[in-house]
Amino acid sequence: MPEPVRLTFLGGLGEIGRNCACLEVAGRILIIDCGLMFPDLSMPGVDLVLPDFSWLRENADRVEACVLTHGHEDHVGALSYLLRDLSFPIYGSTLTLGLARSRIEEGGLLDRTELVPVIDGERRWIGPFDVEFIPVAHSVPHGFAIAVHTPQGVLLHSGDWKIDLTPVDGRRTDLARIGTLATTEGIRLLLADSTNAEEPGHTVSEREVGLALRRLFADHRHQRLIVACFASHIHRIQEICDAAVEHGRIVATLGRSMGKNVALARQLGLLHVPDANIADIEDVASLPPSRVCVMSTGSQGEPMSALALMAAGENRFVKLGPGDTVILSAHPIPGNEHSVSQVIDGLHRLGADVVHSGLAPVHVSGHAKQGEIKTLLSVARPQYFIPVHGEFRHLTHHSRLAMEMGVPDDRVLLCEDGDVVELTDDGIDFAGEVPAGYLYVDGIVGDVGRGVLRDRRVLAEEGVVIVVVTVGARTGDIVAGPEVITRGWVYAPEAESLLEECRKAITISLEEAAAHGATDFDTLRRHVRQAAGRFVQERTRRRPMIVPIVMEV
Ligand SMILES: [Zn+2]
Ligand SMILES: [Zn+2]
Repeated sequence: MPEPVRLTFLGGLGEIGRNCACLEVAGRILIIDCGLMFPDLSMPGVDLVLPDFSWLRENADRVEACVLTHGHEDHVGALSYLLRDLSFPIYGSTLTLGLARSRIEEGGLLDRTELVPVIDGERRWIGPFDVEFIPVAHSVPHGFAIAVHTPQGVLLHSGDWKIDLTPVDGRRTDLARIGTLATTEGIRLLLADSTNAEEPGHTVSEREVGLALRRLFADHRHQRLIVACFASHIHRIQEICDAAVEHGRIVATLGRSMGKNVALARQLGLLHVPDANIADIEDVASLPPSRVCVMSTGSQGEPMSALALMAAGENRFVKLGPGDTVILSAHPIPGNEHSVSQVIDGLHRLGADVVHSGLAPVHVSGHAKQGEIKTLLSVARPQYFIPVHGEFRHLTHHSRLAMEMGVPDDRVLLCEDGDVVELTDDGIDFAGEVPAGYLYVDGIVGDVGRGVLRDRRVLAEEGVVIVVVTVGARTGDIVAGPEVITRGWVYAPEAESLLEECRKAITISLEEAAAHGATDFDTLRRHVRQAAGRFVQERTRRRPMIVPIVMEV
């Protein structure tokens, strides 16, 4: 009887981000993607969110390698953290490795990490894993679906994918290979991208964006053009460059990752721009507006990005004003709408014209919609199905689509982060759980922790009231204070009488406590907290954090 195969999900099932799945064959572990997640508004001060790697750390000696589907941060961004504790080779396309490399390099981990490039359609043994890299189209070039030929049959992981029949680089999703796998060996288990499982229809070809950009370049012949998009979207960058070259414009990059990725893609032969049409940002300042095309980062409204600084009038190189046109060639990721909107407002205030995806077709999604998802299901005809890469609602919709397409209900597994599933001759089933909570990173310190975040949220929403009082150790009598200090509850200089009343309420409470013979530290602290909390709540209907500091002399 062939040995069982296990899959452990460390992230990506229940959120968009921190994608990480671990496959076990013959006691070895193959990591499929190792991504991070960007924080939302409920995580103040957090720089990024990682998968919980404790299970991998406990099994460090069994880790064979990591295979990467593509180079987006939600698939490669956590590698530099995991590589601090573990060492393993990483497989991916040259571009994917190039994009993953910079964070690993910044972490000083490149020397002891082997990066192994693989090409389209390549099939190779990685330890006990027979792995095949199948081309897929996505919003970054050279993405792969990963097929692993295991003792329990073929397991296919779609990676992030879509069907683009006229992709910019001509590299289509290899449905033919997937079809061959389905009709020869059969696909035992399919794991597929759920991001757009709620969206009907098909994603529009990236080429349509190129046409829209060309029209905009033609309509704005005399203006300076600034185009913002994702720095890893090399196809989009190619289309922007093509439009610029066609209209005799010189392209300059703005933003660190834009400059870096353009250089990398040109070096790898993935981006074609004549040298004469590319220049440093310092050099385009002297050119007439009709000859300038600035390609910028910041399409998600990120606070310190090149575009945000331009919108605030604070970019060193580009001062925007009337006559300039900014094209936002991206769609805000859920959670970023407000920042993007603020940037657009700022640009308008400066007098610039703004074209975004709500006004012109300057963006298309990189993920398969329902029509494409159904196509994959009908070509792959998997025996078992697990939706991955999405929030719970996306996973749910994707499960339904699979059932609609004929996968029996009991063969569709709705898994979440931390779930372990086992594939045996009898079928597939849940086989336990591992820790898979969020690991919050702020600065260079590891986990910030839920407690810290809870405190930050209270501080952000309600402020803090600190009460300092000194009492006699044996009597409980007040020796000094209470002093009431606040930030964010009321503006202290204008609320002196309120603070005075608060002090009185606390004093009364402490005197009562002392009258009842309370002298111990905890009781006094509780009295201070309760008296201050009650007063603040009754007088202002607010609930700031109350920090009692009781000192004994
Ligand atoms: Zn992606
Ligand atoms: Zn992704």
